[in-house]
Amino acid sequence: MNRRNFMLTSLGMASLPLWARSLPKTPNPTEMLLGMGELPLYKESIPLAKKAGKAFEKMQKAAKKEGIVLEIVSGYRSYDRQKAIWNRKYKANEAAGLSPEENIKKIIEYSTLPGTSRHHWGTEADIIDGSKPKVGDVLVAEKFHELGPYVPLKKWMDLHAHKYGFYLPYTQQPGRKGFYYEPWHYSYAPLSVSLLKSYTSLNLNEVLITEDLEGSASLNSEFISTYYEEHILGIAPELKNF
Ligand SMILES: [Zn+2]
Repeated sequence: MNRRNFMLTSLGMASLPLWARSLPKTPNPTEMLLGMGELPLYKESIPLAKKAGKAFEKMQKAAKKEGIVLEIVSGYRSYDRQKAIWNRKYKANEAAGLSPEENIKKIIEYSTLPGTSRHHWGTEADIIDGSKPKVGDVLVAEKFHELGPYVPLKKWMDLHAHKYGFYLPYTQQPGRKGFYYEPWHYSYAPLSVSLLKSYTSLNLNEVLITEDLEGSASLNSEFISTYYEEHILGIAPELKNF
């Protein structure tokens, strides 16, 4: 036995070749839907699943010809990242005196329960026009309307995004429940429609609640079932066409 093999054996890892030990564990389909595990991304500036990233890049090139710079401010987001966002908001609302019920209601105006974000799938992108100066919060609906800086972007996307497979889930459609209107959030339908279909077969009561999630005592099965109907399924009809 040479020295290197001896060292591996003594560490109990001799059965795996070196390269295999450095690979991330391949997540199973349920873990992928929940944002757990490593999703291979298209490129750093386009942090989306490969097929969605390729389609986005095509759309980006077409928009550029019209002077619009499509920039992704948020693409793929992991379960852990979403949990950190959730816990931070929960603690801030708690410090401001909100009851657990009020707190959760406030968070889910715009933010998701970890494990339920469409951003976990690598098919969703929050998009702005990178050619405009960034002043304060960029993801606010007013900036996409009237005299806002992202009006030309919105007009272009309204006309062309669907040709590349991108749709808004959180529209202004009357009667739509769930998350508030998000004119910046686009979903790549050729992948996300079937992912949502798979998602509907998960038992959310089993997979969502963990001990280190703030407010988890108030997340009972009644809450989860309303959240599922209104927030997860409260999206544009084109995106639940299965
Ligand atoms: Zn988003």
